[in-house]
This record gives sequence, structure tokens and C-alpha cells, in this order.
Amino acid sequence: MLHTIKKIGVLTSGGDSPGMNAAIRSVVRACAFHDIKCIGIYRGYEGMIDGDFIEMDARSVKGIINKGGTILKSARSKEFRTIEGRTKAHEQLKKADIDAFVVIGGDGSFTGAMIFNQEFNFPVMGIPGTIDNDIVGTSHTLGYDTALNTVVDAIDKIRDTASSHNRLFFIEVMGRDVGHIALNVGIAGGAEEILIPEEDLGLDRLVESLRRSKKSGKSSSIVVVAEGDKIGKSVFELKDYVDQNMEGYDVRVSVLGHMQRGGSPSCFDRVLASRMGVKAVESLITGKSNYMVGIKNDVMDLTPFDQAVKGKSKINMELLRVSDIMTI
Ligand code: ATP
Repeated sequence: MLHTIKKIGVLTSGGDSPGMNAAIRSVVRACAFHDIKCIGIYRGYEGMIDGDFIEMDARSVKGIINKGGTILKSARSKEFRTIEGRTKAHEQLKKADIDAFVVIGGDGSFTGAMIFNQEFNFPVMGIPGTIDNDIVGTSHTLGYDTALNTVVDAIDKIRDTASSHNRLFFIEVMGRDVGHIALNVGIAGGAEEILIPEEDLGLDRLVESLRRSKKSGKSSSIVVVAEGDKIGKSVFELKDYVDQNMEGYDVRVSVLGHMQRGGSPSCFDRVLASRMGVKAVESLITGKSNYMVGIKNDVMDLTPFDQAVKGKSKINMELLRVSDIMTI
């Protein structure tokens, strides 16, 4: 084994997601296992520029595997987008004798790491932490599974009230560019319609479909709407349109918002985070750099950053068909 790496930094960057703490824990413990020092970098690239570092050992990450959020805090750093900012960050890393870093975040964070690697030939590795599951090179990003469970739980609760009052609920879930969350929770929560960025159902077909489901004897309905759905209307505009064009339903809106990012990570996310942390550290030790760790068919995998940030993850078309069949 090449063993030129003696000290690894770890940071969380961009939007937080459940499982980030479990990934920090894994990176720290994998470093301890391989006798490498580990430094926690607070507040993403912002903290890197400021030299806001803390030495971490196996015991510093006790009791966090089950916690949402990130103990290292996260941030979006405008300064890191500039060469001056990145030069400052590089100087801080050198001053602290850090030889490589693992960044846990989304595609923006990986773009920053890739540019940093090109400029300073500094070894970097990425762990995809985002609830949207919108990154190419991994079937699951950290936090996605937890978010699905959180949203399904919320939908179940909303359905209880919807069916007691003959209500139609539009439930907005996260997913600006991709409909993974909406499509999966829509099926799991028994939604009548699922509106996603990849498909334009159109307002008339939406109303037609709701009329059909009412005719078939349904007394309540749930429509799951991804933030970036193709119809291009806000959930409130959708509500108004349906109010004006359909009778017999009391139409309500529920925007789930940031609660989708929180909560204790699921078993799946904890295991995934643990595997990704080990893979990231061991890849750096063996001289690899500029990759994102991912999982494909239950096998850990590496995808070059440039491919991970350029691609657009695709929804599973089979799920669309299953959803259509389920709403007969
Ligand atoms: P999320 O999926 O939650 O949006 P993200 O990692 O994509 O997470 P961004 O805000 O896009 O979040 O990126 C996080 C940080 O990465 C930015 O605040 C910035 O510091 C850095 N970054 C992003 N793009 C670049 C870039 N082109 N050059 C340098 N740094 C960048």
C-alpha cells in the first residue's frame, strides 16, 4: 500500500442530509483504523478558508450515527468559488499538514473539490450527501432513503385527515430537477397522481384523472407534486385550478419543506454512510483522487468527479408504469 497520506480532512458542504454524521464517523474511524490522523473541517469550504479545524479521533464521533444534520456544520461558500478563496484554503490545509480531504455534499461541492484538485494537485474524494438522489454514479445518495421514509410517514398522516373529510391534498415534496422522491413516495403513499419534472401531465389530464378516481368510488385523493414539476405551476396554483374546475372535493395543500432533510437516518443510510466513509479513506490511501464514492448493485464504486457532476440521474420508467397501474 502507498502510505504517503498521513492526515485526512473531512467536511460537510452544501445542503445537509441525514447520514452525514454517520459518514463523518466512518471517515474518522477508518482513518483511526489505518493509523491516519483525521481533522474535522467546520462549515464546509468556508471553514477550510478560515482554518476552522478540529482534530478528531475514534472517540470524538461517538453517539452521532443516529443523529440528523452534521456535527461539523455545513455552509455554502462564495469565497471558495474564487481562486483567492481556494488559495487561502490550500494554505490553511498545508499549515495544518493535511494531505487530502473527503467532502460530503452534492454536485456543487464536488465541482469545488475537482477545481481545487486541478489547481493544487491536492488529493480529494467525495461522498454524495443529498436527499434528492440526483447524482450520477450511485444508485443512492446519503439521506435519500431517510427522506423517503420521512415523506411516506407524513403522507400517511395526511391521508388520515383527507379521508375523514373527503379532501383532495396536493403534497409538495423536494425534487427541483428530478422526481425520484415524488415518484417513490407517490407509489408508497398510494397517491392518485404524481407530478414530476420529467413528465408533463398537463392540467386538463390532471383534472380528468381526479374525476375518474372520484367516479370509481374514492372519497379522498392525494397528489404528490415535486417542487420542479413540469406543469410549472406552484401547488397553490394547482389547488386554485382544481378548485375552479372540479366539484365535490375540499382541496388542500401541504408543503413538506425542510422537515424532509431532518431526522434520524434510516438503517440503510447508516450502513451506506459507513461503507462510503471506509471506501473514501481507503481509496485515498491507495493513491486515488478526484472520485466520488458510490454504490451500484450493492457494490461500492468510484466515479470520476467530472462524470458525477456532469450527468443527470434518470428516474426509473418502470415506476411510472407501476404508478399508473396502481391508480386504476
Ligand atoms: P446541494 O445538493 O445541497 O445543493 P451542493 O454541494 O450541490 O449541495 P452547492 O451550494 O452547489 O451545494 O455547493 C456547495 C459549495 O461548493 C459552494 O458553496 C461552493 O463553496 C462550492 N462550489 C460549488 N460550485 C463551485 C465552483 N464551480 N467552483 C468552486 N467552488 C464551488
